Amino acid sequence: MNQPTSPSPLSERLRFVLVETSRPGNIGSAARAMKTMGFSELVLVNPRDPNALHDAEAVALSSGASDVLAGARIVATLDEALEGCNLSVALSARLREFSPPVFEPRPLAERLAADDGLRAALVFGNERFGLSNEQVVKCSALVSIPANPAYSSLNLSQAVQVLAYECRMAALDGAREPSGIGFRGELAGADQVEGMFRHLEQALVEIEFLDPDNPKKLMPRLRRMFSRTQLETEEVNILRGIATQLLLKRQRVRK
Ligand code: SAH
Repeated sequence: MNQPTSPSPLSERLRFVLVETSRPGNIGSAARAMKTMGFSELVLVNPRDPNALHDAEAVALSSGASDVLAGARIVATLDEALEGCNLSVALSARLREFSPPVFEPRPLAERLAADDGLRAALVFGNERFGLSNEQVVKCSALVSIPANPAYSSLNLSQAVQVLAYECRMAALDGAREPSGIGFRGELAGADQVEGMFRHLEQALVEIEFLDPDNPKKLMPRLRRMFSRTQLETEEVNILRGIATQLLLKRQRVRK
């Protein structure tokens, strides 16, 4: 029999991703917000100042969390920032038409804490423009902090603080609720899901279900649908198998 493994703490499974941040000071404050709540994995996607991690204001505002800043990684794309995660969560004050399922911070944090198979990324947008629709649909959930509807945009590092706090509280509660699904396979990683969408899109174009010159909203709708399920690796492989067959059949018809 397998030895039961001890559940891995949320702090080892949660990554904070800041996308195209303009002000290095906000990065320093975000590092501090994270560390006060026990989190340390910080990834920056293409910050405006490539030297942001060494910026004087960033270092000053990180205060006693300069180790989080020093350990942060800088990557060029959101895809790279999500590598190794099987749940990505976009943070946005604005709801979108083609959005993944929407959560408030608390239920999201409870879900993250309760399921230690989740390796999650919380993705925060740029100070002026937030996250683009394209970035939001890459994520499998959207969290909106239920702020004052007349003024709902928090400072970036304060949004990080709210999420870090909720995640800490949920982790301290130690709720280990059963997932309700019974047996569950390994969840697919973000890169596997991206590869599956590319493959599916290619097959749909080949069988002329999707017109590349007039794609309408087919792919965003499919993304939205699949984001409501938590795709497992095996399921991604099945969908890719279907795409492969469609492509093969089409080639045979052509011959
Ligand atoms: N003007 C931008 C706001 C940027 S604030 C916009 O309209 O989107 C910087 C980042 O902080 C946002 O991209 C988001 O990730 C986070 N944030 C700010 N307020 C938020 C809220 N109420 N709910 C969720 N995330 C929020």
